[in-house]
Amino acid sequence: MANKILIVGNWKMNPLDPEAAKAIARKTRTTAADLRRTEVVACPPIVFASLIMPRDKAVHFSVGAQTVSMHESGAHTGEVSALMLKELGLTHVIVGHSEERAAGLTDEMVAKRILAVLSAGLTPILCVGEAVRDDNGSYFDHVKIQLKASLAGVTQKSANDIVVAYEPVWAIGAAAAMQPEQIREMAIFIKKVYSDLYGSAAGLKAAVLYGGSVNYTNAAEIVSLGQVDGLLVGRESVNPRGFADLLKSVDAVS
Ligand code: PEP
Repeated sequence: MANKILIVGNWKMNPLDPEAAKAIARKTRTTAADLRRTEVVACPPIVFASLIMPRDKAVHFSVGAQTVSMHESGAHTGEVSALMLKELGLTHVIVGHSEERAAGLTDEMVAKRILAVLSAGLTPILCVGEAVRDDNGSYFDHVKIQLKASLAGVTQKSANDIVVAYEPVWAIGAAAAMQPEQIREMAIFIKKVYSDLYGSAAGLKAAVLYGGSVNYTNAAEIVSLGQVDGLLVGRESVNPRGFADLLKSVDAVS
């Protein structure tokens, strides 16, 4: 069987009520149970995390967080540590989403959060991506610089415990996703940066997701032609039927 596919749902600040959150999670979980090779991580607003946490071990389904503190504990009002998330039963944490970066999160802070998530034994999903595309390819430099700075302090031993989500900012919340050929090009580039940093074996093993306006109509094509290891999905992840169709279509990619 081909490699595993990881689909992460970033619910952002949706839905508004707990019953709707439970309904989205229920549909996602029951769909995930029938998948062959696709793992699904739902990242709800943190107040819903324990509500949607499966009581028994779920098949191909787990719960993640959208953000995390770089600190372990102490006087950090409003923050939640990686160890607290682990204690709650979460498995993954999105780190460095462009919406947080736009609000002032720096690469240095992202790097500290990555280390905190790794040391708690959770999987960081590191978001990188350029804000705009120009004709001279400077977006490659941007992604390389962002990646290297966000991975500062990560050792070769932990390098493949991180999942990289390539999310071109201009394609997030947009009318259309990026073209699969361009996605493939960037996925290869990210693996090359990984290989320069951590060696060719780590580069080959690096897991790269794509995010930005993925829905049930384009997901399978992005995974097959874009040759990514999975997807980070925003809007479609809180549309229970659309997300279920997305999961089934991706799982059917051979
Ligand atoms: C996101 O915000 O990470 C995202 C990919 O959003 P959307 O799928 O809605 O473009």
